[in-house]
Amino acid sequence: MQEKGTISIHTENIFPIIKKFLYSDNEIFLRELVSNAVDATQKIKRLSALGQYNGELGDLKIEVAFDEKAKTITISDRGLGMTAEEIKKYINQIAFSGATEFVEKFKEAKDANEIIGRFGLGFYSSFMVADSVEIQTLSYQEGAEPAHWVCDGSTQFEISEGTLAERGTEITLHINADSEEFLSKYKLQEILDKYCKFLPVPIKFGTKTEEEEDGVDEEGKTKYKSVEVDNIINDTNPIWTKAPADLKDQDYLDFYKQLYPFSEDPLFWIHLNVDYPFNLTGVLYFPKLKNDFELQRNKIKLFSRQVFITDEVKDIVPEFLMLLHGVIDSPDIPLNVSRSFLQADSNVKKINTYITKKVADKLADLFKNDRPAYEEKWSDIGLFVKYGVISDDKFYDKAKDFVLLTNTKKENYTLNEYKEKVAPEQTGKDGNVVYIYTNDPARQHAFIDSAEKKGYDILLMNTPIDNHFIGHIEHKLEKTSFKRVDADVADKLIKKDDAPEHVLTEEQSTKVKSIFEKAIAKPAYKIEVESLNPEELPVTITMDEFMRRMKEMAAMGGGMGFYGSMPDNYKVIINGNHKLISRIASEENEELQAQLSKQAFDLALLSQGLLTGAELTDFVKRSVSLI
Ligand code: ADP
Ligand code: MG
Repeated sequence: MQEKGTISIHTENIFPIIKKFLYSDNEIFLRELVSNAVDATQKIKRLSALGQYNGELGDLKIEVAFDEKAKTITISDRGLGMTAEEIKKYINQIAFSGATEFVEKFKEAKDANEIIGRFGLGFYSSFMVADSVEIQTLSYQEGAEPAHWVCDGSTQFEISEGTLAERGTEITLHINADSEEFLSKYKLQEILDKYCKFLPVPIKFGTKTEEEEDGVDEEGKTKYKSVEVDNIINDTNPIWTKAPADLKDQDYLDFYKQLYPFSEDPLFWIHLNVDYPFNLTGVLYFPKLKNDFELQRNKIKLFSRQVFITDEVKDIVPEFLMLLHGVIDSPDIPLNVSRSFLQADSNVKKINTYITKKVADKLADLFKNDRPAYEEKWSDIGLFVKYGVISDDKFYDKAKDFVLLTNTKKENYTLNEYKEKVAPEQTGKDGNVVYIYTNDPARQHAFIDSAEKKGYDILLMNTPIDNHFIGHIEHKLEKTSFKRVDADVADKLIKKDDAPEHVLTEEQSTKVKSIFEKAIAKPAYKIEVESLNPEELPVTITMDEFMRRMKEMAAMGGGMGFYGSMPDNYKVIINGNHKLISRIASEENEELQAQLSKQAFDLALLSQGLLTGAELTDFVKRSVSLI
């Protein structure tokens, strides 16, 4: 029996397209062929379980082997096999809606997955790397004859009697000259590790032989025999396929190590398991964050029935959780998933919402059940939570109860707790509560000190995301505003009615102002004389909260814009009630007066780390002479 025919795709040039156009992703041929073998194996198991197949199942493992000399790669399974009729039906008639549509669409397609997925070309992806492909197969059906199919990459195929004696399928690829890199143990192992590591059917790769002692010969020497060692490359029952109740913490930690061998232990994890309205399992880990966020992105692996698909999960996992690690497995996501599919698919949006909710619930649980442990991890999870608060309103609705504010004393408060704590001291005469924060406690130490003396609490806001977080929270909370501790002198951070008495007369104030203007001689520094608490510093340099934020935003946006082009706008506040200022005002020696003013100003610069270079040298010299 021999039969020749033409693959019914109505176009002559499909194979050149598959080969050339899809070249960049060609390693997926192995994923496609091995998953077909897995499907065939699962099907025979099911038929057997249903009593529709009564023969022996036998050893169901799949084998991947290669022959460097013959330039072949072979994938064999003990699945349900195919009859010649089935080959014609399933392999020859490529199922896609029309050759014209295909040829048109391939021009726009961005990756191989898109085409393979859209046109059901799983098996045909083998022609990306092979000149010709052979199928040897024997169906499980009673009385089935073995069949042999060959196709040389044109649309011509040949079917004849096959040689398989046992049920199953063996696919042999005759690797083309451009793809010989795949005829390497290292390369194939790498691809199998990437796509097939957690497939549900054991996969044996290559044959490794070892020597084993086999008694002694007549001369008393040890004899050896060679033994074949099975090299199963996959874990057929990865933890996400198991029930959480059957797993211990150590199992999760071990799996994490298996996925990311050189990483520190994760902080905690979430076991995902849902079957309605979509099917999804997985384990997501919260890693310890490192400074280099970019390196930690794209660590979530997406699977479909245990076949690895991609680690670009951008649309499935909300942006703010992109730093999570772990696996997601959903049969609702096709193997050949493409970017455009993900963006359009409605399941993907539901999955995204589900993951957000699960993460919020997990955090809420941790917070409720073990607050000390939660607080201990806050420096790591805080970033996720704050990022989530900023980027996702639904997440904020849950997170507002467990997002924490940390003060300079390292105490943590929820939003409600904090409001209650500071409202009595930090409510201004307009009824707004002012939250005071520092982004650099060392540099802003003098300000923090003054504010604390007034009984104010200072929040620590020194992570890269805090600027955005503050802006967002301010929007959400009622009658609350944030002010950086150096935005004003302590007396003025919160506008109250209890302004201290003036010590200087109006005339003296004007005089002090002009003395300092002359001494400082810098137009960017705007000088003001205020009546502050006598205990406050004589001179303080501040930068208006609003102006500073605008400049920061302009800088972050990259462009300069109006605010970006403004010079730094410092205010020099002279404490008219301070003894030193009274002394300067009444000093008759004009040179000494100028020196003292300059000295007081430099001290203010110094305390904020603003005094550098020649000015610092001058300051040191002047100090020595004044002493
Ligand atoms: P898909 O897997 O999406 O159906 P493929 O092009 O990968 O598309 O395979 C086409 C069909 O060929 C399969 O649906 C199956 O019926 C048949 N087939 C492929 N490989 C095997 C195999 N190893 N054993 C049995 N049948 C197979
Ligand atoms: Mg397939």
